[in-house]
Amino acid sequence: MNLESLVLDIPVTDLLYLTDSYLKESAATVLRFEPDGRNGAYLVMDRTIFHPKSGGQPSDTGRILGEEFTFHVNKVMFAKGVVVHWGRNIKGTAQSGDFSLTLDWAQRYGCMRKHTAAHLLDSCLPRVLGRQLETTDSWVGDDSYVAYHGEPPTKKQLRSVEETVNSTISMGANVVARTMSRQEAMLLLDPSSLDRLPKSRDLRIVTIEGFRGIPCGGTHVRNIQEIGQFKLKPCQTLGKEFRVNFALNP
Ligand SMILES: [Zn+2]
Repeated sequence: MNLESLVLDIPVTDLLYLTDSYLKESAATVLRFEPDGRNGAYLVMDRTIFHPKSGGQPSDTGRILGEEFTFHVNKVMFAKGVVVHWGRNIKGTAQSGDFSLTLDWAQRYGCMRKHTAAHLLDSCLPRVLGRQLETTDSWVGDDSYVAYHGEPPTKKQLRSVEETVNSTISMGANVVARTMSRQEAMLLLDPSSLDRLPKSRDLRIVTIEGFRGIPCGGTHVRNIQEIGQFKLKPCQTLGKEFRVNFALNP
């Protein structure tokens, strides 16, 4: 399926998780329903609580229900600012009207905890190593990691990072997301972190109290204490990058 032609003429989706990442259920109006010919379908709503696979965060999963309609959301994708839900069409069709959206909350909440932990790692690692680091990649699915340019830390440094992250978590700090102009963001952030972002639009800046904010469209916990116990696994070196692998206590 060509997603760009599927979403042609559809306005950008209202992303409810940006203002409230704890929203587990919501109502929404269907804008497009396209069967895929294999018991599945693509579904576009005017608004959504489902986070698409992007920014190192995996797709949310869950259900979309209506009168005589049951749909299991398996994958969520962005196409030109429009969120496309793909999944198994269990019963009925969804040509028009209002539907209820429900997240698989345990999976999403795990992502929120791991994604916030990745921000904290981003903040603590340069402090322990005493040098600036450029983040090149991250993933908060089953095997979570953050990748950076440069030489990997030693085992001793990794232990120190783990201790720093855990003591920071135990002290607690609020996580706040705020949308601001690029000019305002320039005053708060490392300007190099803005170079990679689109030039002409407001930015959503996520800040863990006591640390520098970073631009991010993901979902976070309200307070870092919700992350729980943070565990580092052995690092991997991949060419000029290294991956810091981590896990959380369930
Ligand atoms: Zn984030």
